[in-house]
Amino acid sequence: MSKGSIKVNTENLLPIIKKWLYSDKDIFLRELVSNAQDAVMKLKKLAAIGEANIADSEDFRIDVIVNKTAKTLKVCDNGIGMTADEVDKYINQVAFSGAEDFIAKYENSKDKEGEIIGHFGLGFYSAFMVSKSVEIDTLSYADGAKSVHWESDGGTEFDIEDGTKESRGTVITLHLNEDSEEFLDVVTVRKTLIKYCGFLPVNIYLINEEKEVKDGEEDKNANTPINDTHPLWLKNPSDCTEEEYKDFYRKVFMDFNEPLFHIHLNVDFPFNLKGILYFPKLNHEFQSIEGQIKLFNNQVFIADNIKEVIPEYLMLLKGVIDCPDLPLNVSRSFLQNDGYVTKVSNHITKKVADKLNSLYKTEKETYEKYWDDINPFVKYGCLRDDKFYDRVKDILLFKDIDGAYKTLKDFTDADVKEVYYVTDKDAQAQYIDLLKADGITPVLLPDMLDNHFVSYLEYKNSDIKFKRVDSFIGDNLKDNKESEESVKNKITEIFKDILDKDTKIEVSPLKSEDVSALFVLSEEERRMAEMSKMFGNMDFGVPK
Ligand code: ADP
Ligand code: MG
Repeated sequence: MSKGSIKVNTENLLPIIKKWLYSDKDIFLRELVSNAQDAVMKLKKLAAIGEANIADSEDFRIDVIVNKTAKTLKVCDNGIGMTADEVDKYINQVAFSGAEDFIAKYENSKDKEGEIIGHFGLGFYSAFMVSKSVEIDTLSYADGAKSVHWESDGGTEFDIEDGTKESRGTVITLHLNEDSEEFLDVVTVRKTLIKYCGFLPVNIYLINEEKEVKDGEEDKNANTPINDTHPLWLKNPSDCTEEEYKDFYRKVFMDFNEPLFHIHLNVDFPFNLKGILYFPKLNHEFQSIEGQIKLFNNQVFIADNIKEVIPEYLMLLKGVIDCPDLPLNVSRSFLQNDGYVTKVSNHITKKVADKLNSLYKTEKETYEKYWDDINPFVKYGCLRDDKFYDRVKDILLFKDIDGAYKTLKDFTDADVKEVYYVTDKDAQAQYIDLLKADGITPVLLPDMLDNHFVSYLEYKNSDIKFKRVDSFIGDNLKDNKESEESVKNKITEIFKDILDKDTKIEVSPLKSEDVSALFVLSEEERRMAEMSKMFGNMDFGVPK
């Protein structure tokens, strides 16, 4: 047996890894299982090029074995294995040189929220977040390799000696610490495995070592992999059925409402990106969409809704995105400046806009039917991204109070470039009647987001004006020319007396037999007032 010391300058390294590097301690399982997965993939690659001798019938697998009495959790693979030299190189040295880089970069960083995803070659060491001590038992695939046993309690010391493992591959044994005994619970481990490793390409089995299996019975759990090794997003879109897309949606998002439609992303060049995005049904009760975009890296789950990779408004959708080339061994704050990430998010934006455009062109009625559900997403996307607006501006719909749909073009092409809109059909009923008497059918823009959206549209289209039906309607209804100046003046006088003397007062005749008089605020004043009220207590009217 030989003793060595892990090559590292900073004594505080492990406490830092434990407390800071990973905010969710359950990711240790992701790291160990993806190492096991890498080990299998490496061996397969070697076999494919004739460097390793593997039977065709070889059953590659990863076993995660829980033992409550022994307080151990094991991750076992029958992959490439390691020689003693490799353990020294990959476990004792490389990992910590990565750690030194990390420390050098972030030691003085105050940004505790800059959570690290992936690893600095530190993946294996995440095991110490949950363990008192860790053992490695490994046998390399190489001819004549000797098995190796490695052990460390997470300090800077380790022991390495000849091992007893007889079959090719690696077993990582974690002796869980008291704070982490939840990972002795099979249900917790299963959940964690499904979360991070549910779509890995090698079968993963969860085994309860203490479970007694009676004669003639079989342990179903131990014989059924917890993962789906061929996730739908990796298939060719032309080979996927509608039913498969729906099943996948139900399974992944636990949402039993059918999605409206989906977009299958499938790019190999100039970058690699696979995924499926679903447009969910709006939760009409709360007028909200609760989206969720799961980010994967080579089938390994990384996190939900990472805003550095996916434009914020796309998070209103539900979906999975697999970016194998994502630079994950850097901090999340690094991702923002990465050219790859910008390319990915531009591509997704374009695909979403293309899908909407093609729906509008080929299935206009369906598109109109979906509009009630998708409009908050589309509007929010426009507000957040000018490029997205440019791609969808011709297919923005306005539903009028009779249920007919108009586009912006219908208004900009018209002689009167004014869009009258209603935010509350009941409260504004009188005004609607007045407009209808004048041959105008107002459109419905009832959501909070619409307030911002109409201002945005005016800014983008200088020739168009949005007017809520109860704001200054006089201008357009002044056909009634008989009104007498003197009456106007009298009314103005009366109000001047009552109101602040700086208030601007205008009197216009009404063309209606049912309504004798109305007070209205100007569109600008009302909108300003509403906006400042809204900005005070919410973030830009984002549907949440
Ligand atoms: P990374 O996976 O990013 O290389 P890790 O700290 O997770 O960093 O692992 C360090 C190295 O240890 C791996 O690159 C690999 O060479 C080796 N290793 C870890 N686990 C295994 C395993 N189960 N089988 C074979 N080699 C392994
Ligand atoms: Mg790793």
